[in-house]
Amino acid sequence: MAIQKPRGTQDFLPERMREWKYVEEKIASLCSAYGFGEIRTPVFENTSLFLRGIGETTDVVQKEMYTFASGDKGDTFTLRPENTASAVRAYLEHKIYGTENMTKWFYIGPMFRHERPQAGRYRQFHQFGAEVLGSSSPYTDSEVISLALEVCKSVGLTGLTLELNSVGCPKCRPVYREALIQYFEPHKEELCTDCQSRLTKNPLRVLDCKVDTDKTKEAPRITEYLCEECEEHFKKVQELLTAIGISYTLNPNLVRGLDYYTKTAFEIKYPPLGAQSAVAGGGRYDGLVEELDGPSTPAIGFAIGMERLLLAIEKQEAMPQFAPLKSVFVVSMGDEASVEGFRLVTSLRKRDIYAAMDGAGRSMKSQLKLANRMRAEYAIIIGEEELANGKVLVRNMAEGTQEEVMLDAVLDYVEHVMKG
Ligand code: AMP
Repeated sequence: MAIQKPRGTQDFLPERMREWKYVEEKIASLCSAYGFGEIRTPVFENTSLFLRGIGETTDVVQKEMYTFASGDKGDTFTLRPENTASAVRAYLEHKIYGTENMTKWFYIGPMFRHERPQAGRYRQFHQFGAEVLGSSSPYTDSEVISLALEVCKSVGLTGLTLELNSVGCPKCRPVYREALIQYFEPHKEELCTDCQSRLTKNPLRVLDCKVDTDKTKEAPRITEYLCEECEEHFKKVQELLTAIGISYTLNPNLVRGLDYYTKTAFEIKYPPLGAQSAVAGGGRYDGLVEELDGPSTPAIGFAIGMERLLLAIEKQEAMPQFAPLKSVFVVSMGDEASVEGFRLVTSLRKRDIYAAMDGAGRSMKSQLKLANRMRAEYAIIIGEEELANGKVLVRNMAEGTQEEVMLDAVLDYVEHVMKG
């Protein structure tokens, strides 16, 4: 059988790419209004970046990384499973912290995770993400959440839900962690096997277990354990969201288990997507820059799954109809006329006009059919006789009218009628 694409990956053909471009343009324009500059980092990084930047106890690092050895130094590299660690690496490598008070970056690109593929979950998928480094202000949390939501809304999604939590900080979380262990310890045998090991390594993650959600109902809630600073921060974020008309629900089980995640955690869902309804996830990570050997730098970010965003747009039937590009088709009869036609097509393209011709020596009728099929607005018809007189015919395809135009004036003429 012919070779097929790897499991969990997708091909995007031109029609689909047009939809991607539409979404990417919406993202770029909102990001610029919010003051975010675009970055691009390598698709692979030193494996150690992800071990430290995502955490060795996470599923991503333990089960899902595409790691390979390369070169003779025994280095191993990993296809990036997400972009935050790379953004922080770049921030440090280029010593951006010394040059800017606050850094606002966004990226769009492919990520790789060896997961079990299903609708909305792929092994190569794309994320649009934004990161702000250098601000601890709750205004930044609200700004970032607002950007994530506005992107989803700008492509026509309605009925989105925003879930919000605070995961505290290294001051208050250890006490909560202990409370959680004490709560679950007596029922340890009833927990799923994954959660039994989570309980010792990373107890907060028991809260987002998908196997048995009932067990967390009575569990202690982190919001009851927040220190004064975290509580104030959390309240301010909520106040600011309300002030700009964003509603949310509090979800005390929305957690990120690692020490460098702090304070705000959030998720945006599009419920009609069912099992894979999480479109965006994000939160504060005040400890990550230091974890990667940088100066203590507060930071917050999020990532939106592009495939899920596109699935959601499809579900909501919000994808606009794209009008075909205005075009000109050059119809030519005979060798000499075809060469002249080729010259014209090339010159039109240089003027940013979508132009095409056949060049296969078909009859005039077939060439006009091709022009109709590509919905050309105009056809330029070059016959041997016209050419001899230095003239061509310009045909308005919709109206079926045509006009004789001098060959040396036809470029200006067509540009004028097409662009107005
Ligand atoms: P995460 O980086 O795990 O916080 O994920 C952020 C967002 O990326 C999720 O809300 C999803 O929309 C998307 N995402 C994560 N993993 C996948 C995947 N395997 N396939 C498609 N989208 C994904």
